[in-house]
Amino acid sequence: MTDPSNTLVLVTGSSGYLATHCVQQLLWAGYRVRGTVRSLKNEKKVAPLRALEHADERLELVVADLEQAEPWPAAVKGCDYVLHTASPFPIIADEGIVELAVNGTLFVLRACAKEPSVKKVVLTSSCAAINEGHDDEDRVFTEADYTVEDSPKVPPYSRSKAAAERAAWEFQRSIPDSDNKFALTTINPTLITGPLLMDTQGTSITIVRRFLNNEMPGTPALNLGIVDVRDVAKAHILAMTNPRTDGERILVTATPSLWFKDIAKILAAEFRSQGYWLPSLQVPYPILVLYSFFDSEAKSILMRVGRKVRFDNSKAKELLGMQFKDPAKSIVEMAYSMIERGILPKRAGYKPPTDVK
Ligand code: NAP
Repeated sequence: MTDPSNTLVLVTGSSGYLATHCVQQLLWAGYRVRGTVRSLKNEKKVAPLRALEHADERLELVVADLEQAEPWPAAVKGCDYVLHTASPFPIIADEGIVELAVNGTLFVLRACAKEPSVKKVVLTSSCAAINEGHDDEDRVFTEADYTVEDSPKVPPYSRSKAAAERAAWEFQRSIPDSDNKFALTTINPTLITGPLLMDTQGTSITIVRRFLNNEMPGTPALNLGIVDVRDVAKAHILAMTNPRTDGERILVTATPSLWFKDIAKILAAEFRSQGYWLPSLQVPYPILVLYSFFDSEAKSILMRVGRKVRFDNSKAKELLGMQFKDPAKSIVEMAYSMIERGILPKRAGYKPPTDVK
């Protein structure tokens, strides 16, 4: 049985949207946590981490960048477990992020293979490493599926997640017995929603920000799997100490998937009466095609329009006992936390919820 107070967990990219929840849940569970950040001088990123409950007792922060190998041996030194959540996640990605994601993951894993204390790495992958680039897009996808990395239908971010995950498995299987052969699990989330514990505006919050900031005149016919950020963090931590998950990829998602128009309806039901405008019309496909000629974002989503995505989450339920939070509630809580943190404006008529953290 693991004694959390004697257990050190490294969380890479600890100032990220998901990682801050991992750090908070680890601290609540009594673990000692080391988080990596790209700069200790970036107050906007570091201050929310230092403000987490129990951070003053059990959280240390160190600097490490995925673009360099050098910092990682010191970052993993003495750690029992590593949650590798850091990955380049730009809104518009080019092919350069594939190499960065793969190399960065290998820098972390090579350091773990030379550090005898590391028992296990839990890697944050994505559904993007599972269901992209297939011809039979309408079936239900499981952990047995792998994104077709060389398909022209696969955008660079998805390719980066698929390639980094594949590189991780190949590396872990090739570790010689003379090195530290740590166990590996990947957690593969769909779109993550839910409240923020940080203040920066990364890609993860783009969809809800655009909806409530009047930046979406209509909804494209896009369909997404959705999972609450607290569930994703919980899955990482449960997998960390559960040997039944060694060598497993685990899809984490609530079901069923939602269309953008469903997300607009959920937000409208809560926020329209509070002074926020939300789109009620779907953007017709020919308009999106026209738009895609001069908008790289519209171009990047074109191939997904009209396609319903379906995932099987039974492995997460069976191996980790996961019960997924209601996506509608998760989306509303995300929006409230973005308003409360000043990422979205408080419109006249806004009524703060009583229970937002
Ligand atoms: P996020 O807030 O942007 O977090 C990404 C983290 O990676 C940040 O801490 C970022 O550091 C770090 N990072 C990026 N480039 C780096 C580099 N060169 N060196 C060191 N650190 C670097 O996004 P998130 O939503 O929490 O994503 C966390 C993980 O979940 C990622 O692996 C992402 O691919 C995966 N994922 C996310 C979603 C989603 O819907 N959000 C869905 C599936 C999978 P800075 O804070 O310094 O930028």
